[in-house]
Amino acid sequence: MIDFHAHLDLYPDPKMIVKEIVERGMYVLSVTTTPSAWKGTSALATPGSRIRTALGLHPQIAHERVGELPLFDLHLHETMYVGEIGLDGGPEFKPHWQTQLTVFDHILNACSLAGGRVMSIHSRRAAPAVLDRLVAFPGAGTPVLHWFSGGKRDLQRAVALGCWFSVGPAMLVSEKARALVRDMPRDRVLTETDGPFAQIGGGSAKPWDAGGATTQLAELWGDMTEEETDRLLHANLRRLVAIAAAGRAKSGQDAGDC
Ligand code: MN
Repeated sequence: MIDFHAHLDLYPDPKMIVKEIVERGMYVLSVTTTPSAWKGTSALATPGSRIRTALGLHPQIAHERVGELPLFDLHLHETMYVGEIGLDGGPEFKPHWQTQLTVFDHILNACSLAGGRVMSIHSRRAAPAVLDRLVAFPGAGTPVLHWFSGGKRDLQRAVALGCWFSVGPAMLVSEKARALVRDMPRDRVLTETDGPFAQIGGGSAKPWDAGGATTQLAELWGDMTEEETDRLLHANLRRLVAIAAAGRAKSGQDAGDC
C-alpha cells in the first residue's frame, strides 16, 4: 500500500502511526510543512522502513515561514523528495499571494540547481499559476500534483507537462474529482491520504486508509481487478523512485535514500 502524501509529524502520536506503517510494510512519503520540521520528522523514518521524508514549506503558511528559506536550502541535499510546496489561491490565502510566489519560485529554483527533486505539490484554486511556475523552472524535477482539483484544461496541461498525480479516498468522494481522475494517465497515478488533515468517516485519515483509494481507482478504471490496480500503483512508484535515484546519481549528491 502507498500513501504518497501524509503529514506524519502532525498526528497526536506519530510514533504509533509509524509503528503501524512499518508493520503493514507500507510505502509512505512523509511530507513536512516547514523546513524547521525537517529534522524531527525525518527522524521518525526508522532505518529500514519504507518511509521517505520530504522537505517542504506549505503555501498556506508561506507568509509566516518565508524566513526559513535558508533552512530549506541547507537541508535540500539530504533528500530527493520535496513537499509540501505549491500555491493556494483560496480567499483566506490570496492576501499573501506575492509571498507564496516568492517562496515557491525560490524552492523550484533551488531544486533545479540541485539537479531536480520529486515534488509533492499543492495547487488548490491555483492550478494555472502552479503550472506556469513549473514551466518557468523546467529543471526542478518531477511534479506530483497532490489532491488535484483544477479544471479539465488545467489537467490536460499538467499531463502534457509530465506531471504525476496522487489521489486519496477523501478526494474521490467528489464526482468532479472522479471525472478528473478518469482523465489522468494511469501510469502516473499514486495513492495518498493527506492525513491527518483529510477526514474519512468523521475522523482523521490514517496512512493505511490509502487502500480505500486503490479500491475506488479499480472501480473508476473499470477494467482491472483491485489486485491488478495495486500492482500498477506499485509499478508506478518504482518508476518514480527510479527517477529520483537517477537524479541523485546525476547530481553526484548524497541526498538520502530513494
Ligand atoms: Mn497536505
